[in-house]
Amino acid sequence: MQFQELNLSAPLLDAVSQMGFTEMTEIQEKTIPLLLEGKDVIGKSNTGTGKTAAFSLPILEQMQQEDTDHVCTLILCPTRELAMQACDEIRKFSRFQKHVRPVAVFGGASMERQIYQLKNGANFVVGTPGRVLDHLRRRTLKLDQLKTIVLDEADEMLNMGFREDIEAVLAQLPEQRQTVLFSATMPPAILALTKQYQKDPILVQIQSAHRTVDAIAQYYVSVPMGRKTDALQLLLLAKKPNSAMIFCNTKKMVDELTEALTMRGFPAVGLHGDMKQLQRTQVMNGFKSGKNTILIATDVAARGIDVKGVDAVFNYDLPQDHEYYIHRIGRTGRAGKTGTAYNIISGRKQELEMRDISRYTKAEITEIDVPTSKELHSMAMDEEKQALLALTETEITDEAMVLTETILRHTEGEDGAKKILAAMIQQRLEQATKNLPTFDVPKPIRKGRRTGAKTVRVRINAGRRDRMAPNFILGALVEATGLQGTDFGKIDIHDQYTTVEVPAAESEMVIDTMKGGKISGKSVLVRRYEEWDNGKKSGGNYRKGQGKGQNGRNPDGRRGGEQRRSSRHGYNQNPRSGNYNRKRKKG
Ligand code: ADP
Ligand code: MG
Repeated sequence: MQFQELNLSAPLLDAVSQMGFTEMTEIQEKTIPLLLEGKDVIGKSNTGTGKTAAFSLPILEQMQQEDTDHVCTLILCPTRELAMQACDEIRKFSRFQKHVRPVAVFGGASMERQIYQLKNGANFVVGTPGRVLDHLRRRTLKLDQLKTIVLDEADEMLNMGFREDIEAVLAQLPEQRQTVLFSATMPPAILALTKQYQKDPILVQIQSAHRTVDAIAQYYVSVPMGRKTDALQLLLLAKKPNSAMIFCNTKKMVDELTEALTMRGFPAVGLHGDMKQLQRTQVMNGFKSGKNTILIATDVAARGIDVKGVDAVFNYDLPQDHEYYIHRIGRTGRAGKTGTAYNIISGRKQELEMRDISRYTKAEITEIDVPTSKELHSMAMDEEKQALLALTETEITDEAMVLTETILRHTEGEDGAKKILAAMIQQRLEQATKNLPTFDVPKPIRKGRRTGAKTVRVRINAGRRDRMAPNFILGALVEATGLQGTDFGKIDIHDQYTTVEVPAAESEMVIDTMKGGKISGKSVLVRRYEEWDNGKKSGGNYRKGQGKGQNGRNPDGRRGGEQRRSSRHGYNQNPRSGNYNRKRKKG
């Protein structure tokens, strides 16, 4: 259904069409008519489905009736960015309604300016709960004549601990009012809130989670542990997104990755909840203006933020919740454009999670190889070739032509001219390739060769003193290398180090993969085990297949073989096998 078919006044319809909206989204189609009737509504729909327009247009239509100096509408949003964003959009919708005076109020910004705007006839307030409450307490904001309140991104507001603030605001509103709630998810806490504060609310739920991801091509790369940043760098260089969002699960990871990418010369900025408001605004402005083309964020920080033209989303960490996956990749492929999502995974566990996500979103997520440095090099060559060939289109100045002819007169025949051209091309090629990485990310080997394979031992510089247990070690190895638990042989834990039997054919891969890796939070070094390592004969097991025989004893008398056995099934069942097993998702 089209906006023009709605019973809206001309100034609103004109503004909507000036914004380029024609067809309504599902949530708009289902909620706008109800809201126009003045009903209390609960709207659930994914991020990016146009909820702002869904609640603003009916409110603006109501405000068409009268020109007031008191606040008749209040929108509560979880963050400053969302408040500003919603307020900007409302300004656009109301551009032909001079009597609508929107104002955004949020923390971390000048109180005076907000007070000034409130005093000077603002009648449509968009704000964060804390600051709104602040204004209420100072009596710089009065809501006694309010007609409509909207709780936007209600779930997020509750997540952020705004419940009490919201309730304090609601307590000051007139009984007779319209209460509207929009949310991307509908946890029980939300329903409790609606029960208490809404009157006969009508629930509108737009399901079709996967609908929004249809237009997004989804890929994953599987890389050895500790190589995600390298893989990301190669992907970014090969895919060259104009604007990309990268998601991490923790604030710490956002900081680390932002630093790593910046060091590698990418225009990246990080966004998370611990940052000061001013800093967050700067980050968002830098990203929206295109100064920084890469935004690294946590789910919460990026929630609801609408930036046009994001053409790629990267999941550096897979989200802990499948819903989040949809929210994340929904940042690209907006408004009918195609987008691309890349997932960077490491280890078997994440591979299984990837499969789960693919099933959940009913979308195909295709494995691709991490681009190699060689490929990047030849891509750069190719681009230069195209750029050079395109030079035939250039308008040549007289000055350049004169110099060219002089040079040609001074060179001997065609060979001389060729040499000059080649030298110039060479300069360009050097320029184009000088910052390309020279490293590659190996593919983790997945299929183990189990029985009868020749094994060698590797030595890990962590042992009983570091509280290593066989299943921590096996879990870490399996996770990192993609080999199976059964591919590894005996694990012997000594006081200060541990030896593990690994398939000879994979030993280098294992050592390489574990480089810079951690087990149970401890950084470890892994190398080939040498005979001299065991100068004291402190109880190493030499041969595989001797089972838990008498020579399987460790110095403290415990049997290596038994430890090994207990670990055999352990790596994915023990929820605490180091930092390789992040907490399972709730649902
Ligand atoms: P949500 O609040 O559901 O996350 P927004 O209200 O922020 O979504 O809208 C997401 C984007 O889609 C915005 O850029 C908005 O301008 C645009 N948009 C909303 N409705 C439509 C529509 N009917 N047609 C085209 N674009 C729309
Ligand atoms: Mg929104």
